Amino acid sequence: MLDTNTDHWLSPLSIRAPANFDGIRVDNLTQSEAIDLIEKMIATRRHHRMVVVNASKLVLAERDERLRRVLQTSDLVTADGMSVAWASRFSRKFGGDLVDRVTGIDTFTDLCQRAAERGWRVYLLGAAPGVAEKAAVSLQTRFPNLIITGCSHGFFPEPESPVVAATIASTQADVLFVAMGSPKQEFWMAEFGPLTQTAFCLGVGGSFDHVAGNIKRAPRWMQRAGLEWFHRFALEPRRLWRRYLIGNFQFLLYLLRLLQAR
Ligand code: UDP
Repeated sequence: MLDTNTDHWLSPLSIRAPANFDGIRVDNLTQSEAIDLIEKMIATRRHHRMVVVNASKLVLAERDERLRRVLQTSDLVTADGMSVAWASRFSRKFGGDLVDRVTGIDTFTDLCQRAAERGWRVYLLGAAPGVAEKAAVSLQTRFPNLIITGCSHGFFPEPESPVVAATIASTQADVLFVAMGSPKQEFWMAEFGPLTQTAFCLGVGGSFDHVAGNIKRAPRWMQRAGLEWFHRFALEPRRLWRRYLIGNFQFLLYLLRLLQAR
């Protein structure tokens, strides 16, 4: 893992102050800076883990000590949701003002492009059976030089995790994308990521479904306006109403609690 004391040359923290939500550091960098930093991480050949956070993950981490530890010990933590970037700018109490959000899905596709250029081998783990394979076909159409060493779905029984990790290790992948939803993917990466012997792993949530073309992403203007959540909610209201409607309200209360805390 990246030791932030000794690896300052790698750290974006020396460029801009990170945001801080209740002891969880959110790194302050742009999308392209993130890809350059990840390239340096991969060059070390040691295992690194990146997580992206949105409002609901931060609220969850307030109560879930295990999730909190996993976020705090990740090598790179970025804001997936616009609301996290906005909140960072609201008060000095939340640390530095985040210059941008760095989403899981953009990091996923940008890293696949970089992987195709550099010859890194990637593995796709997660989503329903067949989805990772479909995403792989779409990625290889976009980036013909991309080497995908394997795909597996994300609905295996928990005790099979060491076998899944060993399978990934046997393919000698450099980069692992884990799309099993939160916080399941974060827990899986923290516990089994090092066993995959990859140099970098990233939790990407529902990104395989998007890349496979099963779920449409919000138009650019909605992404920029911070309305991507509304687009997702409109597509899957039954599954997501609790997460977004209650989640956004809970995030406001969470921020108020942090502002009131001494
Ligand atoms: N998923 C999985 N294993 C599970 C539960 C979910 O692989 O045990 C997949 C699911 O099929 C979907 C993704 O994880 O592709 C979760 O998507 P969601 O939109 O909930 O993720 P988010 O990005 O919002 O965390």
